[in-house]
Amino acid sequence: MYEMADQSWRNQPRKMSEATVGQLSARIAEHVEAHGLSSIQLILHGGEPLLAGPELIAHTVAAVRQAVGPGVAVGASVQTNGVRLDKAFLRRFDDLGVRVGVSLDGTATGHDRHRRRPDGRGSHSAVVTGLSLLSAEYPHLFGGILCTIDVRNDPVRTYEALLGFQPPAVDFLLPHGNWVHPPPFLPDPAATPYADWLIAIFDRWYGARRQETEIRLFADIIHLLLGGESAGEAVGLAPARMVVIETDGGIEQSDTLKAAYQGAPATGFHVAHDTFDNVLLHPSLVVRQIGERALGGACLTCPVRRVCGGGLYAHRYHGERGFDGPSVFCRDMFHLITYIHHVVGRDVADLLEGRR
Ligand code: SF4
Repeated sequence: MYEMADQSWRNQPRKMSEATVGQLSARIAEHVEAHGLSSIQLILHGGEPLLAGPELIAHTVAAVRQAVGPGVAVGASVQTNGVRLDKAFLRRFDDLGVRVGVSLDGTATGHDRHRRRPDGRGSHSAVVTGLSLLSAEYPHLFGGILCTIDVRNDPVRTYEALLGFQPPAVDFLLPHGNWVHPPPFLPDPAATPYADWLIAIFDRWYGARRQETEIRLFADIIHLLLGGESAGEAVGLAPARMVVIETDGGIEQSDTLKAAYQGAPATGFHVAHDTFDNVLLHPSLVVRQIGERALGGACLTCPVRRVCGGGLYAHRYHGERGFDGPSVFCRDMFHLITYIHHVVGRDVADLLEGRR
């Protein structure tokens, strides 16, 4: 999976040049050929990817597809804040077969608390306009909704506000945080506010008469509990399968690492002179390829370590031990996983013993 992003804090150009798009496309093609891949995922995000404009987006997707050739499926998508999502963009995405994910934090009150325009106005109404258009007229392009958790918002109301757009999938993201910069609302070391919030939604989602949408975090946890692998990075011990390409062509790790310290995602590699296989030799990438052997501290003996996987890598950062230890959300992760284990395990047992 290749993600393209911008990082304004590094004073990088906000748009990728055509020369860099060419270098990037050649690197992807080289990697695809070296490993005999039949499909790849290309995600354009930011910042805000729609600021690049429809021409550059179309050029980038076309350049990558041309470079890898017709035998390789390029699943292209954009992850947008939705403010600029209009008919012109959606028509273009339809022509290109580009799927669209939109960031929305639930109700107007919950969303506008954090997501504001430069003039201070909340962006909820603009996002709703774009999202409604996507959902009603281009449902085949709708990739899902990304919602960052704020435990001040009512969880079920938040979930039901998202369900109103009939998303095929919802990603609930824990807020940025680590042991140096703790996430909000974790003042009491015995409390589990994030697990409690997510469990309220799990009960609503799992208890529905039909599955109204996929919630990737819950689906991943259930899959892992049953012996499978996770699709994302939030849980599990699957190898990291994604690199980020910045607008200047720098090759980086996941954007989530930005919360650890300035420059944390950097690798020092660049699409102009480094292969993606070279990037795999970077120590931070190596530890994210070796599964359970990379866990440290309390995670090594934790009974849910194969499901939790120490949580999101960025959430483990500690001023003294680096990433060698449990997630700052450890207690929440443990509570959420053991709760889902209990509920699903009870239902499987009931089914096998004829009680359902
Ligand atoms: S629940 Fe805590 S100790 Fe267990 S694997 Fe996750 S972060 Fe590590």
